[in-house]
Amino acid sequence: MTEIGLFLVLFVALFVGWAMGRKNPTKKNKQTKKSIPTDYFRGLNHLLNDQHSEAIDAFVDSLEVNSDTFDIHLTLGNLFRKKGEIQKAINIHQNLLARPEISQREMRMVQLELASDFMSAGLLDRAGRLLLNMASTSRKTEFQPKILTLLVDLYEFEQSWDKAIQIGSELIKEAPTKKEIKRLAHFHCEMAQELQKKEQWKQSFQYYKQALEVDSSCVRASIGAADVLNSQGRYRDAIKELKHAAEQDPEFISIIIPKLKECYQKVWGSGGYIKFLQEQNQKKPSTALIMALVQHYMETDKDYAEMFLVEQLRLHPTIKGFKELISLQLADSQGYNQQHLVVLFELIDQLVQAKHKYQCRQCGFPGHQLHWQCPSCKNWGVVKPIHGLEGE
Ligand SMILES: [Zn+2]
Repeated sequence: MTEIGLFLVLFVALFVGWAMGRKNPTKKNKQTKKSIPTDYFRGLNHLLNDQHSEAIDAFVDSLEVNSDTFDIHLTLGNLFRKKGEIQKAINIHQNLLARPEISQREMRMVQLELASDFMSAGLLDRAGRLLLNMASTSRKTEFQPKILTLLVDLYEFEQSWDKAIQIGSELIKEAPTKKEIKRLAHFHCEMAQELQKKEQWKQSFQYYKQALEVDSSCVRASIGAADVLNSQGRYRDAIKELKHAAEQDPEFISIIIPKLKECYQKVWGSGGYIKFLQEQNQKKPSTALIMALVQHYMETDKDYAEMFLVEQLRLHPTIKGFKELISLQLADSQGYNQQHLVVLFELIDQLVQAKHKYQCRQCGFPGHQLHWQCPSCKNWGVVKPIHGLEGE
């Protein structure tokens, strides 16, 4: 919200609060609430002198806290937090909490906002203590899902995956949303990945399996489990996991193919691998599948490989496929033709290298690397390989 917008809200809020106070005067404030508060005029004066910060403070001071203005105070605090003025948000929320007349429900509402303020200010310890205390005293209340969500946000930010898993599991029992289930599965994958780096294969594999129990569509867990099995020399089991990953989400086929090829070569040779590629290409063609098949056909029949590629490019045109075709033509060309093809190949290669390989399906963030958590919108499992003419 812009500063002008904030002032507008403040003006309206102030008048609403003042008007309500006039309309419903309590015994205590009958004598004091008959006129506009002097802080209001002080704020107006600051505003006219372009002293915006002082004006906001004066307006906030002039807005008395009572049951009619409670929501306005809460909204103002949130506006300050969103505007990046965290200390002001904290002051407003702490001021509300200090009021003896606020109800238990209102107190929880303010504490939740205050926890968000602490998190925005980087005061993670304070936020954690407040939320844990709330979680233990707010069981079976309407606030529990929100409290647990904020705790999960906090542990996710700290990368404390074991705590994130513990609270995330409680959260999906309370309020099982698709987003939280997906996120919880990825927390298990993060744990699994850490253990994988330490070569603790058994524990790592268990976490990947737990991720799949939480979210059966978690393609990352299947790919990770296959990597662990591969490291243990259990190639047949790794192949099963990778085939399962291709069923879960065919969009990840470009990541699955090289891993599958490696496992097949160690046990059965290329027979089953080629059959798998052909089947997948019929279901959902992609450049990665076409390239892998061309590579295989080249070993035995170069003409067939080229014919296959041209046919596939007609059905599924991509820049990467076109680059491969020029590469095949180059091998057979000579003289000027070859020189022209080299220039063309280099140009297309530069184009392919410059293109991003991955993109977030939620916010559009592009990248050359696969991030399981989008660096921009922070959602999990939303970054995928790019498909279409410029991608797969
Ligand atoms: Zn994103």
